[in-house]
Amino acid sequence: MAVKKKKGRRIVKVLLIIVAVYLLMILWQLIGDIYSRLVNTHEIEVSEEWNGESYQASIEWNLIVVNRWNPIPENYSVELTVLSNGQKVDSRIYPHLQEMFDAARAEGIYPIVREGYRTEEEQQEILDDKIQAYINEGYSQWRAERTAKEWVALPGTSEHQLGIAVDINADKTKCTNDDVYAWLAENAYKYGFILRYPLDKQEITGTSYEPWHYRYVGTEDAYEINERGICLEEYFE
Ligand SMILES: [Zn+2]
Repeated sequence: MAVKKKKGRRIVKVLLIIVAVYLLMILWQLIGDIYSRLVNTHEIEVSEEWNGESYQASIEWNLIVVNRWNPIPENYSVELTVLSNGQKVDSRIYPHLQEMFDAARAEGIYPIVREGYRTEEEQQEILDDKIQAYINEGYSQWRAERTAKEWVALPGTSEHQLGIAVDINADKTKCTNDDVYAWLAENAYKYGFILRYPLDKQEITGTSYEPWHYRYVGTEDAYEINERGICLEEYFE
């Protein structure tokens, strides 16, 4: 009888520990969530200075800033040109992209557009796939969503939906991605393109370093952005 009682108490103890650990985990996630919200709120306040609605309405198409705090203006429309590999870009950047690629090829560098224009639905699919991938890795739904959103732009906040941003990789039969990234870092501004997410600007752009993602702004602005070593957000501060 006494042994049974002891055993019963031990089970209760183990159960209590499990519950306590579980509650601690929930608390930990809540703290993380509140913290990230606080950080983001702060950044929204900063960005509103240069990006109210009137700002977006008055700005030229090539200088629109889209990031996680500044969605694409409503009713944004774009005329697209289809590339030979099926990717699409805003027709206005096409000649500049072509000129840049021709210049690269003349120097033995063979870039390709891996990803150009994306619809809102395609962006949503990419996000959903990423969330599912984390769930498959064993993440909870909540944590999978949070982690995926750190890496994938929310629909409506991806520059690819503007059609003036391109992910550029190498034709790997002829050179490496690193060859292409190095050439672009050195030369893209001459054709009006900027590295949109530099290594040391993650806090300001809200996006991790992406050596393949280039964004058209026009040569004049690209020269200045390149020379000052700043990112697009800083250009409007
Ligand atoms: Zn991209």
